[in-house]
Amino acid sequence: MRFAPVLREVLWGGRNLERIAGRRLPPERPIGESWEIADFVDRTTGREHSSIIDNGPLAGRTIRQAAAELGPEFLGRSADAEGRFPLLVKYLDVVEPLSVQVHPDERSAAAIGNGAAAKSECWYILSAGEGGRLYRGVKPGTTAEQLRAAAGDGSIEALLLREPAVPGEAVLVPGGTIHAAAGVVALEFQQPSDTVYRLFDWNRTDPATGKPRPLQLEPALTAASLDRPPPPPTRFRGGFDAAATLIECPAFTVREIRSSGWYAPEWPGTEARVWAILRGKARIETVDGQSVEAKAGDVLLMPADMADFTAVSEGVLHVVEAVPR
Ligand SMILES: [Zn+2]
Repeated sequence: MRFAPVLREVLWGGRNLERIAGRRLPPERPIGESWEIADFVDRTTGREHSSIIDNGPLAGRTIRQAAAELGPEFLGRSADAEGRFPLLVKYLDVVEPLSVQVHPDERSAAAIGNGAAAKSECWYILSAGEGGRLYRGVKPGTTAEQLRAAAGDGSIEALLLREPAVPGEAVLVPGGTIHAAAGVVALEFQQPSDTVYRLFDWNRTDPATGKPRPLQLEPALTAASLDRPPPPPTRFRGGFDAAATLIECPAFTVREIRSSGWYAPEWPGTEARVWAILRGKARIETVDGQSVEAKAGDVLLMPADMADFTAVSEGVLHVVEAVPR
């Protein structure tokens, strides 16, 4: 099942999703995000995001409508307490630096209240420009006072842990981790939440309003865990026709699959999964004789009741698979 992407114009975005993910972009606008799979209500604004199905017999319906029509077998045990698919999947094109920001973890979201929701995110790096970099966490010993002062005088970058963005690597940004990035195109899997607190926005003015974007320094410092360094990046190691776990966190698992022509996943048939095709082209065939073509750039939701299937490709097929926990 594939969905109509929802593009978001942002001041830090670019045009790379055309080339890298095959998305059709409106001319001359900086596009930072393409939402590929969304099924949640933003608790801050009350707005519902439910992706629209783009192929097959349910084309035109939203995930919500499909879940109502198909019943609990559709999402299986992946459904959250509200019956929704608990992963938000996006392509990101971060050309200009992303604001220095933080999302709460479960503990600080509860402390902050006001509709704040926890968010951990995983970035799978697809491409990096010159100087492409990630910032995750703060240098050991950094205090909230230092961050407050450095956000004020613009020197906050010096307090952040910086690493190069390397294509093929996956990084986890656990809730509570202060982070930013620049010069990178990535696939992002995250807990569906729009709760974000900005500490610093690189002294920019938003061309849409002619004003700087608002900062939320004090809630950011409440949400941040300063003494928890993020785990190191991981990458696929292993042979063909195999799956390797890249990221495991309490909210989801992310794996990479590499196949040389024929791949049958171990499929419990009780949970829905995301398949993002990185490279190659495949025909995905189910045991009951249905099949769908998928190519690089496609992001698919494999329903829980899809049962056993095989992915048949001419040549290599690389897939990033995400499974809610
Ligand atoms: Zn973030």
